[in-house]
Amino acid sequence: MRIDVISIFPEMFPGPLGHSIIGRAQERGLLKLVIHNLRDYTTDKHRTVDDAPYGGGAGMVMKPEPIFRAVDFLQCREDSRIILLSPQGEVFNQGKAWELSKEKQLLLICGHYEGVDERVREYLVTDEISVGDYVLTGGEIPAMLLIDAVVRLLPGVLGKYYSLQEESFTDNLLEYPHYTRPPEWQGMRVPPVLLSGHHEEIRLWRRRESLKRTLKRRPDLLENKILPEEDQNLLQEIRKK
Ligand code: SAM
Repeated sequence: MRIDVISIFPEMFPGPLGHSIIGRAQERGLLKLVIHNLRDYTTDKHRTVDDAPYGGGAGMVMKPEPIFRAVDFLQCREDSRIILLSPQGEVFNQGKAWELSKEKQLLLICGHYEGVDERVREYLVTDEISVGDYVLTGGEIPAMLLIDAVVRLLPGVLGKYYSLQEESFTDNLLEYPHYTRPPEWQGMRVPPVLLSGHHEEIRLWRRRESLKRTLKRRPDLLENKILPEEDQNLLQEIRKK
């Protein structure tokens, strides 16, 4: 996958994306991450990227021309997704991460100040994505978050020790709790079933814990979810308790 990021603070990258799994994905050629300075697409000697809002009021607005020019120049593929990071966008989740992981090229636009000129939203971008219902100072951290969530889903990026099938939000469930050695630490014990070596009982315990957690912490994930019979029985049992 190729990901291009347009930012007025390109030096913020690669930042956390240069390390660990995403860093290795780049070294192994699974991800090509290219960061562009929006100021390189201005035409005035001050390299201006923002201006005062029409109608007055506080703050500055990012001008449309450099953004349109940058996208024109960088869009290698006709079908590439052009994503504006914005608190007003569709809220990002694991489903969106899976959807974007199927693309060949993503182009991410990071806003600042009051945001970008509305014509960018209206005529240029294919997606407007928010990372949550709060306002950050700029789109760089949201872009990094999106890149991390998407790239770890690309084939070959995660090692064999990870299971994408069992992790939280796959199947609309939160994952079961994990334990490792020692079996007892300062009186805190690992659930005996996990030490039993009984695979079927462990599977059932994990499934029950997963359903229990989801019901307690994120009941919204279970709404409208069609559960297999075994899960329905387990849920009934949990609710009774
Ligand atoms: N004035 C805007 C509003 O009230 O909707 C907020 C602009 S914010 C201070 C500046 C930039 O940060 C945005 O253009 C966007 O790129 C980024 N940003 C802030 N919060 C974000 C969020 N929750 N998700 C994605 N991007 C965000």
